[in-house]
Amino acid sequence: RRIADIARAAEGHSSVAAEAAADLTKAAKERGIKYFLISYVDLFGGLRAKLVPASAIAEMQRNGAGFAGFATWLDMSPSDPDLFAVPDPSSLIQLPWKEEIGWLASDLVMGGKEVAQAPRTVLKKQLADAADLGYTIKTGVECEYFLISADGKSISDDADTADKPCYDQSALMRRYDVIKDICDAMLKLGWGAYQNDHEDANGQFEMNWNYDHALLTADRHVFFKYMVKSIAEMHGLRATFMPKPFINLTGSGCHAHVSLWNKGKNAFADAKDELGMSKLAYQFIGGLIHNADALCAITNPTVNSYKRINAPRTISGATWAPNTVTYTGNNRTHMIRIPDAGRLEFRLADGAANPYLLQAGLAAAGLDGIVNERDPGKRLDINMYTDGHKVKGAKKLPLNMLDAMRALEKSKVLGDRLGDAFVSGYLKLKQQEWNDFSRHLTQWERDRTLDI
Ligand code: ADP
Ligand code: MG
Ligand code: MG
Ligand code: MG
Ligand code: MG
Repeated sequence: RRIADIARAAEGHSSVAAEAAADLTKAAKERGIKYFLISYVDLFGGLRAKLVPASAIAEMQRNGAGFAGFATWLDMSPSDPDLFAVPDPSSLIQLPWKEEIGWLASDLVMGGKEVAQAPRTVLKKQLADAADLGYTIKTGVECEYFLISADGKSISDDADTADKPCYDQSALMRRYDVIKDICDAMLKLGWGAYQNDHEDANGQFEMNWNYDHALLTADRHVFFKYMVKSIAEMHGLRATFMPKPFINLTGSGCHAHVSLWNKGKNAFADAKDELGMSKLAYQFIGGLIHNADALCAITNPTVNSYKRINAPRTISGATWAPNTVTYTGNNRTHMIRIPDAGRLEFRLADGAANPYLLQAGLAAAGLDGIVNERDPGKRLDINMYTDGHKVKGAKKLPLNMLDAMRALEKSKVLGDRLGDAFVSGYLKLKQQEWNDFSRHLTQWERDRTLDI
C-alpha cells in the first residue's frame, strides 16, 4: 500500500483527471464508454488485456480482472491461483480512434498481495525509493519505429531509398495519413505532441510528445506502441519497434531523457556548471555508467537488440547507437548525451525495452549513483565512432544478450534495488529465450560450416 500511495502521489496525474475517472461506472456513463480494456504488461513487454463491458466494470474495478499468470511471461506456475489485474482509474485513455473503448493500465495482485515482479509494480517501487530521497523523476521517451509491409518483409514505401533519408520531407509526407492520425490522437489526449519526422533509416519514423512523471510516461509509452501498431494496421501497413529489423539500416532506439525534481524545481539544473548540470545529475550519470552492463539486460532485452548496439556503420554513415559506456555534452556518439541544461539523454535503450522496466532500470541505476555518490569521470567530447579506439579504459557494452544477462545476475546494485523476485524471474525466462535462440540453426552457420 505504501508503495502504491507514494508512487501515486509522485506520479502527478492531475487530481482532476484522477477524480473524474475514479468511479469507472460513472466515467463510462458520462463519456459513452461501452467497453474497457483492462490491461497489463508482462516481463517481455507483451500487452495483455481483457475486454470488459461497462456493466461489469464496477466489480472489476474493486477486485480486478482474472488471468492465469502462467499463460503470460511473469514467471508463474500453472498451479498458481488466479492473477488479478486491478485497473488504475487515473490511467484511463479512450481510444482516440474508437472512443467507446476505455483503456486502463493495471497493477497485478495474487493471493491478496501485489505481484513483486510485475513491471508496473517494479517501477512504482523505484519511484517510491526516489520519493524517499525527496525526488520526483520526470522522463520523456523517443520511440522510433518502422512502417513496413503487412508481411513484415520490407519497408512499406518503395520510393524511400535515399542513402541519407533522415528528415526527408517527401518520404515523411507519403506517410502523412498515418502520421497525422497518430499525432492527432496524441493532441486530443493532451500529451503535448510537438514534432514528427522521418528518421535515419528508410521506412523509419519518430514522433515526440512532452516528458512527464515517469509512471505517466511509461503508461503513455505502452499506449503509444499499441496506438501506432493499431493505426498503421488501419492503413494496411504494419509498425515495428524491433531494434534492428534490417541489417544495413539504422536500428530503432528508444532514447530516454531524465530529470529529477524536488519541490517543483529541476534538481538536475545548475546554471554554474558548464553544461548546466548539478552535482546530483552527475551522480545519477555516475550510476548509469557504473551499472550500464547490467542495465543493458533491461534496456536492450532481446537477442536482436545487440545487432543495433556495437554495430558496424549503416548505409546512412552512422548507427546513432552507442558502443561504449561513456558520456558527453551535445554529441550523439556516446551512451549518455547532455543535450540541454538540466536533463540527460540515455541513448542505449531500444524499441524492445519494456516501458516500465526501462524507467525502473534507469531509476535504480541513477539512484544508486546518488546514494553512493558515483563519479562519472570526465566527459568525452570526441566522435566515439571514429576515435573511440583511442580512449583507454572506456568500458565496452555487452556484445550479446547472454553477456548482459550475466552482468545483471552479478549486479548486487540492481539485484538489491529491483528486488530478487523480479531479477531472478526475469533472468530465468530470458535464459529460456536464450536457450531457444541457441538451438536455432541459422543460414550463416550452414554457409560457414557446411564444407568445413
Ligand atoms: P532528440 O531527438 O534531440 O534527442 P527529442 O525532441 O526527439 O530530442 O526528444 C526529447 C525528449 O526529451 C522529449 O520527450 C522531451 O519532452 C523530453 N524532455 C525535455 N526536457 C526534459 C526534462 N527536463 N526532463 C525529462 N525529459 C525532458
Ligand atoms: Mg476462463
Ligand atoms: Mg528525437
Ligand atoms: Mg531518433
Ligand atoms: Mg534522442
